[in-house]
Amino acid sequence: MNGLRPPNLLASIGVDRLGHRRAEAGWVRQALSEGRVDYLPVQGSRNLVRVAGAPQPVRIGPADLARFGASHEQAILLGMQDQRLLFAVAVEDQITAPADHAFYGLRGLAQQLSRDDAGLLAYARAMVLWHASHRFCSRCGSTTRAVDRGHARLCGRTDCSIRHFPRVDPAVIVLVSRGDRCLLGRQPDWPEGRYSTIAGFVEPGESLEDAVMREVYEETGIRSVDARYHSSQPWPFPSSLMLGYTASAVDEEISLVDGELEDARWVSRDDMASGAVLLPTPMSIAYALVRDWYEAAVGRDLERDAGGHQQPWR
Ligand SMILES: [Zn+2]
Repeated sequence: MNGLRPPNLLASIGVDRLGHRRAEAGWVRQALSEGRVDYLPVQGSRNLVRVAGAPQPVRIGPADLARFGASHEQAILLGMQDQRLLFAVAVEDQITAPADHAFYGLRGLAQQLSRDDAGLLAYARAMVLWHASHRFCSRCGSTTRAVDRGHARLCGRTDCSIRHFPRVDPAVIVLVSRGDRCLLGRQPDWPEGRYSTIAGFVEPGESLEDAVMREVYEETGIRSVDARYHSSQPWPFPSSLMLGYTASAVDEEISLVDGELEDARWVSRDDMASGAVLLPTPMSIAYALVRDWYEAAVGRDLERDAGGHQQPWR
């Protein structure tokens, strides 16, 4: 990846996660007594933002927690920023947002925020969603409770007592090229004309390189080699980590082997510049893979060349 590029969107949070201090006692209470604690409310999968003017993430104080049906005891420590501790809190479904505020989905919101704010809201959302879907032990079925400031859940049955950790699902995403063309596919529910890079979840017992080759073959019938790491992106919808690769195709005839894609095709740089396909949303690592492939060969800016043909994606 071009070393001058900023990290992929959602990959930066501007916060010290303080992983080594989560289990320590006392220091959070001290921060509370000094008024150095803020909370980011999350309702379901949506983050609270102020919507008068450009959307801005909202941080509430301890005194506001009751208004949102939340408590400090249930809050999840995200980390420290400018000497202030940041927590995420889950808000019950029936709570309505205050005037000029709304609970917003991150897909539509992320590109309107600063990089650090977008990454921080993604982190908060991922943690709240994980707690909501892991209330019961997956080994014995007993109820679990949050420990380590929300970074683990402990099974309540004493002869089980297994500790569950926040889930991250690795997925590979790959730009496969052959000469001046790259391999893009589309899923049936995407906006008309939209094409993107090939992606899929890594399976147990599989290396990332093997997952790249398998996914490309299953979705397009193309055999690929030389998988090389590009960059990564947290994709908390709800818990993926996208691992970006480039690879080279050794054949050209496309066949939609597993039926997951509606179509796949070879797309040239000219096709991209002319708007023959709609490219992935600019917030995604898929766009970064396409952009870097395009720009490496033509030495021109993809956004400038193709921007007039592309539309924002919701
Ligand atoms: Zn258990």
